[in-house]
Amino acid sequence: MTVPRVALVTGASRGIGRSTACRLARWAAVAINYHRSEAPARALADQIAVAGGRAILVQGDVAEPEDRRRMVDRVTAELGPIDVLVNNAGFVRDRLVLRMSLEDWDSVWEANFEGAAWLAREVLPAMAKRGWGRIVNVASVVGIAGNAGQANYAAAKGAMIGLTADLALTSAASGVTINCVAPGYINTDATAAMEQQYRDAWLEQIPMRRWGDADEIAGVIDFLAGDDAAYITGQTIVVDGGLLLSRR
Ligand code: NAP
Repeated sequence: MTVPRVALVTGASRGIGRSTACRLARWAAVAINYHRSEAPARALADQIAVAGGRAILVQGDVAEPEDRRRMVDRVTAELGPIDVLVNNAGFVRDRLVLRMSLEDWDSVWEANFEGAAWLAREVLPAMAKRGWGRIVNVASVVGIAGNAGQANYAAAKGAMIGLTADLALTSAASGVTINCVAPGYINTDATAAMEQQYRDAWLEQIPMRRWGDADEIAGVIDFLAGDDAAYITGQTIVVDGGLLLSRR
């Protein structure tokens, strides 16, 4: 019998992370990281168990070095060494750059970029030693094309894309792949609060004339995390209904 892979998905209590954990649970034991939303995280773990999978909860703020170390240690102790890391946790604090506070800047940078970078650093040595590993970073089209009012977020997601390329080069010979997914506009809690006029304006620009679903991002992450993507590394896969194409 083959031992199931072990996956840690950050920000898995809701949205894209939740859909990703559901998908990965079909072939991996999954650690569901959440920060504040314990109830939905617990409901997801129960759902995975009912479907015959294995999941544990790991509370932690990816922006906090101590939490990151504790999360990796707990997953390793309870499920085994981490084979798949999905750096999905993130949020926005939008404001025009001239009005942006240092707190707005730092909080977005630390959770979206530093959390991902340092978690990757935590798990990479053991992955390389075992000769197999997958890291999938969830960036954004905003990290490629920018968006007025999101300088902090654009910088963090753009840095994530650069980090992906660098770590992929460093790890290419060791059987570890590192890739990025850059979603466009996806229906989740994060975008639900957006005013209707802005939603309509974005919809106009999306060639497919619809927003994406979390599961459409999760499907790409699931592919990149699996054996079929063994020869893909350092890439950023844009999943946006053609949005960036239309802006070229
Ligand atoms: P969401 O529905 O708001 O969910 C965000 C998740 O991240 C939650 O599980 C939340 O945990 C977790 N999280 C936030 N800060 C955290 C922290 N410091 N430590 C640990 N977990 C934290 O967001 P989403 O739309 O699914 O977004 C997921 C990722 O996709 C983000 O990186 C986002 O930037 C990216 N993205 C989203 C879109 C979109 O249109 N939705 C587009 C491009 C990129 P708790 O609830 O437990 O606090």
